[in-house]
Amino acid sequence: MRNLLPLVRALGFGGIESYVKWNFVERSPGLFDWSFYDAVNDELDRHGLRWFPLLIVGSAYTLPAWFHDSEENAGFECLEHRMRNDIQSIFCGLQDRYVERFLAEFGRHYGRRKTLLGVRLGPSGNYGEAQYPARGDWGYQWGPIHTHIGYWAADACAQRRFREWLRERYRSIEALNQAWGERYGSFEEITTFLPATALARRKRIDFADWYMDSMSRWCERWAEWARQAMPETVIHQSSGGWVPVEIGTDYSFQARSMARLGGGIRLTNESDNYADNFAITRMASSAARFYGAPLGYEPGGFGSARGVIARLYNMLTNGGEHLFYYHANLFGNDQAIDAWLEAASLLEERARPVIDVAAFYPDTTIKLDDEPLRFRWGSVFLVKAQALRSALDYDFVSEQMIDDGALERYRVLVFLWGYVTERRILERIDRWVRAGGTLIYPTQPRGLLETVEGDQSISQRWRQGETGKGRVIFYPGDPVPGEYYARFVRNELRRLGSLRPQIRRALEIDKPEFVYWSVLENGRLALLNFEDEQALIRLEDGRQLRLPPYRMALVGE
Ligand SMILES: [Zn+2]
Repeated sequence: MRNLLPLVRALGFGGIESYVKWNFVERSPGLFDWSFYDAVNDELDRHGLRWFPLLIVGSAYTLPAWFHDSEENAGFECLEHRMRNDIQSIFCGLQDRYVERFLAEFGRHYGRRKTLLGVRLGPSGNYGEAQYPARGDWGYQWGPIHTHIGYWAADACAQRRFREWLRERYRSIEALNQAWGERYGSFEEITTFLPATALARRKRIDFADWYMDSMSRWCERWAEWARQAMPETVIHQSSGGWVPVEIGTDYSFQARSMARLGGGIRLTNESDNYADNFAITRMASSAARFYGAPLGYEPGGFGSARGVIARLYNMLTNGGEHLFYYHANLFGNDQAIDAWLEAASLLEERARPVIDVAAFYPDTTIKLDDEPLRFRWGSVFLVKAQALRSALDYDFVSEQMIDDGALERYRVLVFLWGYVTERRILERIDRWVRAGGTLIYPTQPRGLLETVEGDQSISQRWRQGETGKGRVIFYPGDPVPGEYYARFVRNELRRLGSLRPQIRRALEIDKPEFVYWSVLENGRLALLNFEDEQALIRLEDGRQLRLPPYRMALVGE
């Protein structure tokens, strides 16, 4: 650390992050020894840097021996293999008092220390994230661990919690049987199940809702405990960015709850490729901006020199609060530091983007079906999201955001994938269209938009032109490859009078495919050339720009 800190400072970073592990601090029950991290803080003080620790209490590699070997150690168990690991189950409640005490003690020791820049919460997951166990490693005392992306809901506590949740929702077993098409004699007969085995749509959605809701509420409790322990401290939740059900993170819920507690969200999975990065982090950043939660960014792994530019551009065009690097990403690549030095100062001009177009985030379809995005590297949804980004800058809008009134902020709603949603969401979209909104919907390959119960009457009415003051534009062609659909959407947008002038001008920019634009609230146009060659860019007013490969530029209006 002593060797690295002068370079960290010289490159313009404000602080460093370290993993604060439960077993490093509470070596015997109730006795807290902070000397290791005090030494870290003293060193940071000497270099004029600040501290942004990640607090990890429930992940396997952070368990103190006294807890690991006790009766209270209750790990997650997967439904796929009925095997458990040492990452603490969020369903049992046995760990709660230890987490709360740890956060309180941390707050007492560091909450007022000037070095503290903020804290990052690590409520669960392999490493300390707001999610279930996934691909990864790091078992207890660095030993092996049974882990995979899957459903960690087989332990007895999870079964009991699921039954309680269903009883609350349905009240009587007859009502549940009706919704699920089952013949249970009582709630006691119900067990957790792999979602793909559910015959009825409602059964599968209920499981997914409960599974995701459980993680959301666990993370919210962590944030509440942290806020209580540190009333004035910057607090960030640690989360990925897109939403396969197994991962369990609901970014809309999380953005809303963190905003309520005066906290933010760190997105931990940035990719090196700009368009890919956009597709997998824009859901979370759209929700964070809508609810008012500050954003931080972290790479998911490998970092290249062009990735430095991609991540800076993402931060620049989202008005992000902080940007994190594992030092090896930056220092281990001899071109990355040069790219950083050349471009990082542009962050001084970062701002929120001006966005008129939202793409529908198909939460219900994601819960019903693995096809939209469970398999990140095989997802047509994400590939289409990337293709559309070439045509314009846009947000995602989730079903919860629509429930909370987000559609009113946008003039256009584009569907990329997803043909099923809850009735109240469909009715809300219909009201927004009738009030003047424009909806663009591809009817291939899954047909018209319908409710979970299969009712298409609203989209049938749209089909017949009953759209009030708004419009519904159907795309009848094959939406794959996504570039065809993106071109169609851009051409339709160019004809729309309802977009703001700066967006209309940007839609007229003549540019290569992998050049991206974003209109910022500070009046600047942010451009990124992610091509291997110099790009010739012609703006709507006739100005021409030549941008070298993997460079950004900010242009005045
Ligand atoms: Zn398993």
